[in-house]
Amino acid sequence: MEALLSIPMLSIFLVPIMSSYSTSLNLLFFYLTWSTLVLSHSRLRVELFGTIAVRLLFYALPSIIFFLFDILTPSAAILIKAQGATGLPGGRKRRRIRAKELKIAAWGLFNLCLGIAVQGVLETVLVRTLGKRSALKVSLKLPMPFEICKGLTMAMLGREVSLLKFPDYIAVFLTYVLHRYALHSRWSPMLARWHRSWYHSLPAPFPLTAHYDHPIPYLLTKFIPTYAPAIIFRFHMLTYLLYLLFISIEETFAYSGYTVMPTSLFLGGIARRTDMHLLMGARGNFGPWGMMDWIFGTVLRDSRSDSSSSDESDEQQDMRRAYEASKRKVQAGPSTKNKRR
Ligand SMILES: [Zn+2]
Repeated sequence: MEALLSIPMLSIFLVPIMSSYSTSLNLLFFYLTWSTLVLSHSRLRVELFGTIAVRLLFYALPSIIFFLFDILTPSAAILIKAQGATGLPGGRKRRRIRAKELKIAAWGLFNLCLGIAVQGVLETVLVRTLGKRSALKVSLKLPMPFEICKGLTMAMLGREVSLLKFPDYIAVFLTYVLHRYALHSRWSPMLARWHRSWYHSLPAPFPLTAHYDHPIPYLLTKFIPTYAPAIIFRFHMLTYLLYLLFISIEETFAYSGYTVMPTSLFLGGIARRTDMHLLMGARGNFGPWGMMDWIFGTVLRDSRSDSSSSDESDEQQDMRRAYEASKRKVQAGPSTKNKRR
């Protein structure tokens, strides 16, 4: 329990270290806390409690608050929802918590725990059963700033780019490749069916749906792309926590459906791309950053911003019509909504 409480304290110390000039004292203080933590707990406990603390503070808690805000005050939430009522849990304005939305939220949280459990099992098998070194580096030595920057850049790219050519590593299928070629492919009908009937049954993303999917597609397209780069580059535990913090914030906002974001260009862009993947029936936007979609020509733009454009192609017009039709269906009421499935 102390480990769980100590990790959030570490992240609090990280902020002054980065922003203040009196880093020497802060660094010493931080190093003492870190060494106490590493010396008094097993490496596995430090890794798991650190992961739980970051996920809880930067994904689960804010997402639960956003989810309750959407459910309890739909009239206020709708004002900042990019897709209007479609972006509310349940797809329309209603001031009542339905079992279905609670079930979606519970599955989302269950999947999050499942990912952490799989991480724990992997580390235990690696260290205790196979006698190998742990997948993540938990050492007394703090990572150098350059090491952190290099690791984060590679990992962030790695989430979206397949690193098949990377020497000494088994092929890694990451977000774009897995999402497009495993979850939306006729070669894997079972996975495609699960992903369609779970995640794609949502009218639009809403808070807590970042981790909502059938557990198998979830592990494939969420857990693996997040954890694999950290293992490949054997991150220092602190680099990993910082990496996970960025991902958690990204997921919290990308799936919120809100137009108000800490960085509207970056997070707002990811959020709208995530919306369009669902609203356009998975015709594109398979990666979070849009880089791979741009390379492979699967970019879907927000139809609302294109509606006035006269030079859009036939395909874009089709997509826009599909998007507008899906909105009309949802707004028409529950009887037509059920037919959409
Ligand atoms: Zn999909």
